Amino acid sequence: MIVKRKKPQFLSYLEDTSNIKGKAKILFIPESQKELVNLLKKASAEDMPITFSGGGTGTTGGRVPQEGAVVSLERLNRVISINPDKKEVTAQAGITLKDLEESLSKFNLTLRVSPTEPLAFLGGVVATSASGPRSFKYSSIRNYVKAIKVVLSSGEILVIERGKIFANKRNFDFQIKKKRFKFNLPSYTSPQIKSSAGYFVKDDMDLIDLFIGHEGTLGCILEATISVQNLPLDYFDCLVFFDSDKDALDFIDEIKKIKECNSFYPCAIEFFDRNSLDFVREDYSLLPSANCAVYLEQEIELPEQQDRILDYWCSLIERHNSSIDKCWFAEDYKNREKLHQFRHWLPQKINEFLRQYRQEKVATDIAVPDEKSRDMYYFYEEKARQSGVDYVIFGHIGQNHLHFNFLPKTHEESFRAKGYMLEFIEKALSFGGTVSAEHGIGKIKKPHLEIMYGKKHLEEMARLKEVFDKSCILGLDNIFSKKLLLKHR
Ligand SMILES: Cc1cc2nc3c(=O)[nH]c(=O)nc-3n(C[C@H](O)[C@H](O)[C@H](O)COP(=O)(O)OP(=O)(O)OC[C@H]3O[C@@H](n4cnc5c(N)ncnc54)[C@H](O)[C@@H]3O)c2cc1C
Repeated sequence: MIVKRKKPQFLSYLEDTSNIKGKAKILFIPESQKELVNLLKKASAEDMPITFSGGGTGTTGGRVPQEGAVVSLERLNRVISINPDKKEVTAQAGITLKDLEESLSKFNLTLRVSPTEPLAFLGGVVATSASGPRSFKYSSIRNYVKAIKVVLSSGEILVIERGKIFANKRNFDFQIKKKRFKFNLPSYTSPQIKSSAGYFVKDDMDLIDLFIGHEGTLGCILEATISVQNLPLDYFDCLVFFDSDKDALDFIDEIKKIKECNSFYPCAIEFFDRNSLDFVREDYSLLPSANCAVYLEQEIELPEQQDRILDYWCSLIERHNSSIDKCWFAEDYKNREKLHQFRHWLPQKINEFLRQYRQEKVATDIAVPDEKSRDMYYFYEEKARQSGVDYVIFGHIGQNHLHFNFLPKTHEESFRAKGYMLEFIEKALSFGGTVSAEHGIGKIKKPHLEIMYGKKHLEEMARLKEVFDKSCILGLDNIFSKKLLLKHR
């Protein structure tokens, strides 16, 4: 086990891309399952709070500790097995998505869904139920997690396979290795849209779904088995520029009408408003002037589809008043990588900007039902203009899930921006939306979750945590305040 006791040796583990700063006494980097198990047993006995750390690419302060110790999974980073026949991979939690994809590509396989950030760890992705650009077609990682191995704070190991243990309505009663678990699930209803807000619960649910998106509060994800798919023959990727928001939104609405079984069904539909384009313009001097842009990605399975797909998209693009000449098409691997880099660069540049001005992230991860997508977008625009603070709006519009990011340069601007965040949340909830569609709640979105579900339901989440984390030491202050835990009252 690698242990770092001096703060300067582990400063980078005290933050993530939310830019909030944390405190911890010590960093542990276990190098085997046994070391991790013993460490958690000792931490429980000594009542030492533990925060698990993945790649640190989270945006909500989930891995940022407030006390106690950080446990980084970075050395538990092996691919355990790849089964091309079953199309599944089992890997340790500390592997980066980049390394995982590299290993999979040797078998002509790929993950269906992954966040834009390739340095995220598999464990972090499962712990936040992350999704990403291809979520229009594939939704979140939740749908592809077939099994997980979790270490509880007691040191017990649970191997949970999908399809084996189910709730009876809201009640779980099962045994693992002679140990009985009997508890009630919280009584709220998780939204029927893409959501990563608090514990996932529903009647008759599979136990594994409780541990996907638990944000390090129930146990440590040590391994995960993920269903993967063959790499497609090719992709069609393009960035379409529009002079009016209305044309872009009409274009998107028409795409959403395409049936999933149709060969033109895209996997990604992403949006960039004018401010987003202007924000990265100095890095992309060839960006045309436009009011907004839509990024599309579609998988191509057969060579004969290639021309048909190009014709289809060209005619749809022109019908919605954009020009083919202005579009950026990626005809080959190199250009596709350039488009992916463009997509990745915007959130990265926002994080750099906030770091430069020493400001915390003030951004939404809201998703709303289909019929409210446009209203939410116009509401963002109206309020952002009133605020007088710089902003960008971009993201997964295919699932009505735009990231609104304020770009405050001063504490006064940040304070003002935070006031508007509450208005966004109230509006989204009135539309039947969620406060977090993919990043999770972490530390910074707790007040938003309380608005969404109310204190009673947060208390129910706390009771649920106590079932698995008996010593109440894991991921404290993630999702809900530690003050709701009986032990910490
Ligand atoms: C440029 C950029 C683009 C991004 N794009 C997307 C996107 O498109 N879609 C998306 O969903 N997200 C996106 N994100 C957010 C981020 O990549 C995801 O939330 C990712 O899942 C975090 O993984 P991580 O390993 O970095 O986790 P960390 O930030 O290290 O941790 C996240 C949470 O998971 C917990 N955790 C980590 N490992 C474990 C474990 N083994 N067991 C239990 N708990 C654990 C931590 O305690 C913490 O609460 C983006 C981030 C950046 C910087």
